[in-house]
Amino acid sequence: MNIILLGPPGAGKGTQAEFIKKQFHMAHISTGDILRQAVKENSPMGIKAKSFMDQGALVPDEVVIGIIQDRLQQQDTMKGYMLDGFPRTINQADALNEMLKGLSSWDQDRAIQHVVYLEVPELELVQRLQGRAAKEGRVDDNDETVKNRIKVYFEQTSPLIDYYEAKKLLRRINGRGAIEQITKDILSVLS
Ligand code: AMP
Repeated sequence: MNIILLGPPGAGKGTQAEFIKKQFHMAHISTGDILRQAVKENSPMGIKAKSFMDQGALVPDEVVIGIIQDRLQQQDTMKGYMLDGFPRTINQADALNEMLKGLSSWDQDRAIQHVVYLEVPELELVQRLQGRAAKEGRVDDNDETVKNRIKVYFEQTSPLIDYYEAKKLLRRINGRGAIEQITKDILSVLS
């Protein structure tokens, strides 16, 4: 099974990704994690990405599309994969479609079957992200950056809701409430 996790920053994608991964033994591909690692290592990609990430802006499409292109060639994704934090723009989603069709090993098994959309009201997101800033010390969780990431989400990423709805892939999940309940709701749409 191949899925996309979609939702605003602070919706709980990372937390739920851990449960889903255990249940279905799929490759977990988080562009945010890959980029943070690159920044830590001071690689050319990390150096390029850092200023965008610090501002809460999106890293240019070609960078993240390149990450996914490489990652989907790797063997562990053949038995199923979960994209967490990608795509974040319509352009990235179109690129993903093209990429999947173009894979040398392409067959129906590599296509996306579900887009799990975690819905959380905007007001709650700000509170959650500020809580995470205090707990995890993520540099992009400070007040100003948090507001910008939410703004960027509504402007550039939320159009993907209609995009995947039109493709009949969208699975809406209420992202408020107990973590275990949300996990149950996700597993029941995936099973
Ligand atoms: P995340 O951990 O998914 O919230 O990502 C952290 C940051 O990495 C984002 O605020 C962006 O700057 C960058 N990033 C992660 N995924 C993408 C993506 N698909 N497109 C552009 N930027 C991304």
